Amino acid sequence: MNTLFKSIVPLAALATVAFAAQAADYPIKDKPVALVVPFAAGGPTDRVARDLAEALRKAFGGATSVVVENSAGGPGGLIGANKVAKANPDGHTLLVHHIAMSVFPGLVRNLPFKVETDFEYLGMINDVPMTLIGKPQLPANNYKELMTWVQANKGKINLANAGMASASHLCGMLWQSAVGVDMTTVPYKGTAPAMTDLIGGQVDLMCDQTTNTTSQIEGKKVKAFGVTTAKRLTTPALKDLPTLQEQGVKDFQITIFHGLYAPKGTPADVQKKINDALKIALKDPDFIKKQEGLGAVVVTDKRMEPAEHKKFIAAEIAKMTPVIKAAGVYAD
Ligand code: ASP
Repeated sequence: MNTLFKSIVPLAALATVAFAAQAADYPIKDKPVALVVPFAAGGPTDRVARDLAEALRKAFGGATSVVVENSAGGPGGLIGANKVAKANPDGHTLLVHHIAMSVFPGLVRNLPFKVETDFEYLGMINDVPMTLIGKPQLPANNYKELMTWVQANKGKINLANAGMASASHLCGMLWQSAVGVDMTTVPYKGTAPAMTDLIGGQVDLMCDQTTNTTSQIEGKKVKAFGVTTAKRLTTPALKDLPTLQEQGVKDFQITIFHGLYAPKGTPADVQKKINDALKIALKDPDFIKKQEGLGAVVVTDKRMEPAEHKKFIAAEIAKMTPVIKAAGVYAD
């Protein structure tokens, strides 16, 4: 054995031992588990992550704190997603993200990570409907009146969103094309700051997840024109809101899924510990109650499974990519 080799062997053994110990000890005491949210604080993805953080903390038996870290920016929250793709794979930096994971490969040129292979899939979280809402100053009080206002104000209407490839962007684009009127989109780093401007009347309309809009609709801070599901919601605050479909927007249906991801290379037993904790968290009655109160539906047991999560995203990518390419849209 040459000297160099002799010195490498014990080092490699040491690294293996250290790594194994790390996996066995997960979560490392006094080291918080960070849930990275790729949008601004106070918005819908942030809401889901904060509720999940609390449920996960309990699921880990209080062994560690679970914190939310907002890392906003880029198309579809690219900056936060990339941060997690490049993070230390020790299970202490995780990503909570939505439908944009299935849009990235078709939309972003020179994507700095591969959605399919640079993440470990830890299970899905929930499905969240969206609502079409407007500034309180609008003269319209229902969808029919909104359409009259839209027709009378063509060329002057603006629609807030969380940037290209965000859920609000997808919903807003689909709605504009369904009604056949072009509107100016106004991008924000998340729909929390967009909501502030909508309430203030600086922008006219927005389509956003119920996890952000429910309390504003309930408090009459914004006007609500319709929900994006096939059937009306049962959530008390939203049960009287008609669907967009029943108001004539043909086949208009969109819900936003959320999932949990870790950087590639996170040890298998750490992934298992996180998935076990996720399953406990998603069955936590407090978590379920909070989600239901916001119109969100916690996923089934099957969709909590990492393999199912991975399969689902692969299928969504295969579905979305040709549509995005055919539309000729892209982001850098
Ligand atoms: N709702 C946002 C979106 O449109 C993101 C957010 O602020 O959570 O994707």
